[in-house]
Parts: sequence; structure tokens; C-alpha cells
Amino acid sequence: MEQQTFAVVVDSWFDGEAHHDSGPASFLVRDGRIEAITAGDHSEDLARRGIAVHRGGFLMPGLVDAHVHLFLDGATVDAKLRAEHLKQPLDQLTEAARASARQALTCGVTLVRDAGDRHGINNRIRAEAMAPGSDLARVRSGGLGVKRAKRYGAFMATDVADADSIRRSVTELAGANDEIKLILTGIIDFDAGAVTDEPQFDLEETRLVVDTARECGRNTFAHCSGARGLAIAARAGVGSIEHGFFMDRGTLEVMAENGVAWTPTFAPVHFQWAHPEAVGWSANTVGNLRRILDAHAEHLLLAHQLGVTLLLGTDAGSMGVEHGRALFEEIDRYLEAGLPLAATLTAATAAARRHFGCDDSRLAGGAPFDAVLLPASPFVDLAALRRPMRAWPAQAAAVSA
Ligand SMILES: [Zn+2]
Repeated sequence: MEQQTFAVVVDSWFDGEAHHDSGPASFLVRDGRIEAITAGDHSEDLARRGIAVHRGGFLMPGLVDAHVHLFLDGATVDAKLRAEHLKQPLDQLTEAARASARQALTCGVTLVRDAGDRHGINNRIRAEAMAPGSDLARVRSGGLGVKRAKRYGAFMATDVADADSIRRSVTELAGANDEIKLILTGIIDFDAGAVTDEPQFDLEETRLVVDTARECGRNTFAHCSGARGLAIAARAGVGSIEHGFFMDRGTLEVMAENGVAWTPTFAPVHFQWAHPEAVGWSANTVGNLRRILDAHAEHLLLAHQLGVTLLLGTDAGSMGVEHGRALFEEIDRYLEAGLPLAATLTAATAAARRHFGCDDSRLAGGAPFDAVLLPASPFVDLAALRRPMRAWPAQAAAVSA
């Protein structure tokens, strides 16, 4: 059992929005909450009082991966093996999901938002992660999503048809899921370099999903790429747009106005660009992937400038996208796009928690203690992010208090 009172002393820290770099700070944590943050290194005094002290270089809120699929294994890149993985019995898929959540926490990712699985394994891991002493990252679960019959998304969503079935399904799913996942479009046709299918839902139907979820106290997140789907998602006011490839300025302006957040998930496309042999892409298709990634980076920077809320999610579980580790690569994509490091880390910490409705999204006196201790400041050495000394996910009791 974790000691109820302990201290963390660091040379500098990040509260989720601001970088505190004016000398050491001492954090006193009691029963899962930050009791006090005091300037200076009070290690000796704290130790004299019998309080355990964790000494490190840098403290920041635990990282949040806003888009994962726990039951999928991103390390497996062979298409045949990936298909076989999905055919395993429920127990084995659940064990795979547990391993994903464990690996995420090892990387300093204390919270993941699972973007859907058809078995509800994500809801089960969410419960297991709340147990005292659990070594799993906390889970915010999209449970089972909603999609149009005979369209993309069967591994993570149930079919809906008319308005009645949308209302019925969303209301039922809202009982178990933290957010309602909507599969609004299919996937990108990389050979064509475009999203070629029609959106699965029109504006009116998408609004019905958003409004029904809201009546049930739930936010929505929409799997969506391509101009037509994005225009619908932004105008319908979904909580967040996931992926959002082929973004445009007009849609970003509507998103800023309607408070629609964006999780751009560079990782799966970047993997296929960097390892075309894994899929067997032609030189022409690799060119398409590069063009898509470059346009995505431009629009990420534009979104930041327009004040769109940015989340950071990897789509871990996708081919080549490994739970936990992929988050550092996604951070690299944000930095390559020209975002400042502080804004990037905010997307990976406080912005996500605020978007999820956590009562206190930053490291501050009185807030739940959800943090990762690093050996050095990532503002000095970015690679320090990849070497967490220790991660503390929020304690259930402190969060629900
Ligand atoms: Zn996904």
C-alpha cells in the first residue's frame, strides 16, 4: 500500500500550462492530493519529519494519451498476425488490453482515453485500473461506439440506422461509457491520397448523436477525416474530432467557435510513411503519405494559432503504434509542426484533463496528485520525457472526493 503522506522535490516543474523554472520546489502529498507546493529544496526538513522524499529533476502532470485502443497491439505490424490477434478469445484480448495499460503507465502515461472496442474490454480495464495499487494507466472509456450499418468501424462500434435507433443506442451506451464515440467517416484511401467514401451520418443525424449524448451528460468524439465529414463534425459541435486528416482553415474556424477539440493522431500515418515495406506501399503512395502529413502539420499549427483546443493522442494499437512509447513520437510531430514545447505538453496533460471535465487539471495546491517524475527537465533535454523515474496516477478516492 502506498504511503499516504510523501514529498517530491524537484529542480523545476510544469503545472500543465506554465513552466516553473525559478529554482527547486517541494511538493507535499497527502491522501492523493497536493497539500502544499513550497519554493526551495526542503528534502532534509521533510526527511527529519519522517516523510518519504522522492528527489528528481522535474515534475509534471501525468501524460494523457487521448486516443488509444487498449485491446489492439501496435507492436505487431504483420497484417495477418494483426487479423489473428482480433480472433483471440475475450480473455486473451482482455489480457492484451491490461498489458497495454501497464505499458502506458511505465512510460509516464497515467491516463488514456480508449476510443472504442466492440467487446467493452475498455470499460473492464477502466474498473481494474481504479483498484488500489493497480499498475495500469487510468482509463477514460469510449466503450462501444456508434456507426452506420455495413460501414467502417465494426471492431469498435455498434450499428445504428434511423433517428429512433440513434436515440436508443446513444442513451443505452451513455450508461456505461464516459464519452460517446461516433464513427462519422471511413479511413483514408492512401493509394488515392483522399477520403473517398461519403460521411456515414449527415449534419442532422450527427447533431442528434451530440444532443442525445449531452442529455445523458456525455460528451462525444468523432472518428472523422476528409473535408465533408469534418464540416459536419465541426458544425454539429462534437466534443472532439479524432484524426481530422484533410483539415482546412474554414473548419478550424468553426471548431474554434463551437469549442470543438482536435486529436490529430499523426502516429499511424507517420508509421506507414516511415515503414512503407510493412504495408507494401508504392513510391507514389509514400508520396501521398508525406503530402498528407505535411498538410496535417500545417493545420495543427494553424489550429494552435486560432485557439482550437488541442489534445494529443496516438491511436496506439494501430499498426506500428505502441502503447505509451508512441506518445513521445506524437510529441515530436507537434514540435516538428512548429508548436512550442509548453503548448505541446499542455495538449498532453492539462488540456486533455480539462476537456474530460476533471475538476482540477493542473498541478496546484489542493489538486489530485497525478504526476510523473523525470530525471531532468524536458525543456533542457527532451529525451528526459522518455525516462520517467516514477508515475503516480490519480487515486480514485482523491478524484471522486
Ligand atoms: Zn482509433
